[in-house]
Amino acid sequence: MKKFLSIMALMLALVLTMAAFTACGSTKDGDETTAGTTAAENNAATGTDTDADTGADTEGTTELTTIKMGTNAAFPPYEYKEGDAFVGIDVEIAEAIAKELGATLEIVDMEFDSIITSVNQGEVDFGMAGMTVTDERLLEVDFTYSYATGVQSVIVLDGSDIKSLDDLEGKKIGVQLGTTGDIYASDDYGTENVTKYGKGADAVIALKGGDVDAVIIDNEPAKAFVAENEGLAILDTEYAVEDYAIAVKKGNTELLDDINAALEKLTEDGTIDAIIGKYIKAE
Ligand code: GLN
Repeated sequence: MKKFLSIMALMLALVLTMAAFTACGSTKDGDETTAGTTAAENNAATGTDTDADTGADTEGTTELTTIKMGTNAAFPPYEYKEGDAFVGIDVEIAEAIAKELGATLEIVDMEFDSIITSVNQGEVDFGMAGMTVTDERLLEVDFTYSYATGVQSVIVLDGSDIKSLDDLEGKKIGVQLGTTGDIYASDDYGTENVTKYGKGADAVIALKGGDVDAVIIDNEPAKAFVAENEGLAILDTEYAVEDYAIAVKKGNTELLDDINAALEKLTEDGTIDAIIGKYIKAE
């Protein structure tokens, strides 16, 4: 079923590419790659060039003067706080998008698990939080082009007897509530073995305290948590490979198109690569 949906998503993406619509997806445990499309790939496919011809910026059709982003600022390097300031890859990309749209960015910090509801209730205009495109979420919200890739990773204590995904059977796993790590771990290892925390950092504290044996979380936050804490290691395994995108209210094509146009421009002119490169150093 998952594979079928993925193939449907791929076909849909191909059919609708001309209408600047794409569907993205995640790949787990050898599932077939779904239709993850980046702005750059879309440009390559259609040969479109947002607005290089006119030299105008992408200022979209949306009338918004303030654009509200719902996020969970406990997910370095994508969104976190330095003092009172919101920083990170998503924050900077969102600021650049807002500028393209001629709007001021306002950030609303909330639990990750509340973001989609908040988008759908119109409390925020979009959700951006290293959010993975999944078939289930596509039923609830629309996603823009993917602007980054994430990999679900496993953090353990140094010297742990957990060396592979198979070793996680029957172990206590910590996750962040409502994330793909939560969903996959609960599916694969049983809800009874999964403890859900409001923040990834709290799951890491539980790991250090011996309350859980492993934490499943996205690779870049995993690296950040391991760098900040002694005695932790990341398993050399990719639990799931995912596309990150921005969520907008279902059917809000005006905003979706405007953000996609901005993403295309910011991809083409190198802004997105520069922002990602600032926070993630090549290994
Ligand atoms: N990429 C994961 C997801 O979308 C985790 C995101 C997050 O915790 N901010 O579920």
